[in-house]
Amino acid sequence: MRKKIIAANWKMHMTVSEAEAFLHTFLHEIGDEAGAEVVIVPPFTALAKVSEILGRGQAAKLGAQNMHAEKSGAFTGEISAPMLRELYVRYVVLGHSERRTIFGETDEVVNRKVRAALDAALKPIVCIGETLEQRDAGQVEAVLHSQIEKGLHGLNTKELSDAVIAYEPVWAIGTGRTASPQQAQEAHAFIRKTLSEMWDAATADKVRIQYGGSVKPQNAAELMREPDIDGALVGGASLDPRGFAEIVKAAAHH
Ligand code: PEP
Repeated sequence: MRKKIIAANWKMHMTVSEAEAFLHTFLHEIGDEAGAEVVIVPPFTALAKVSEILGRGQAAKLGAQNMHAEKSGAFTGEISAPMLRELYVRYVVLGHSERRTIFGETDEVVNRKVRAALDAALKPIVCIGETLEQRDAGQVEAVLHSQIEKGLHGLNTKELSDAVIAYEPVWAIGTGRTASPQQAQEAHAFIRKTLSEMWDAATADKVRIQYGGSVKPQNAAELMREPDIDGALVGGASLDPRGFAEIVKAAAHH
């Protein structure tokens, strides 16, 4: 049985004091809801404070939005896996479509980061997904297949089962346009089948596949009911502590 995993990708939002205020309300709202794993993914500047507030409690874990593949060196403006580990970061989002399109990250770059994350005992949340043009051209499966093959190249079965995949159709991110539960389930089932062919069925069955793309309290429950949707990567709607708590509760009960 895969435990649902709901992550709040705050992107370039939330100062330290805003993060504190968010957590104050959010933690109160979710109480001891343990049905879903929650990951808060703040900007780097708020990691230390969020880490301190979450402490060793199980209410929510800490994630980072990106990292560099090298451990240290002359990479001005970058952050490494050991730096994240020191702050008790457990997850790192890699290959988000904004990183791919705005910052030019390729599948090969994503793969190097995935390797570095796993070597540092960080669990990668690897984002994949097609653009609208690719969907309209009937290329969804080809795109997902290629992103999985290149982005997750070299992982053993244990590493794969520690990884989380986020299916994020690019046309649904920040657009208010959500994939229908059927569209999302179809893509998730294809991703799981691909993992099972590239690794094996037992491992593929363990991997959690999140859906991301305009998830909000109003549509979370119907998405979470689908058999291969194991949680959500939430952008815009994760900035509101009450709304995000509703999404967590929807996931915990499906
Ligand atoms: C995201 O950034 O991963 C995302 C899915 O954003 P939004 O929920 O705003 O579409």
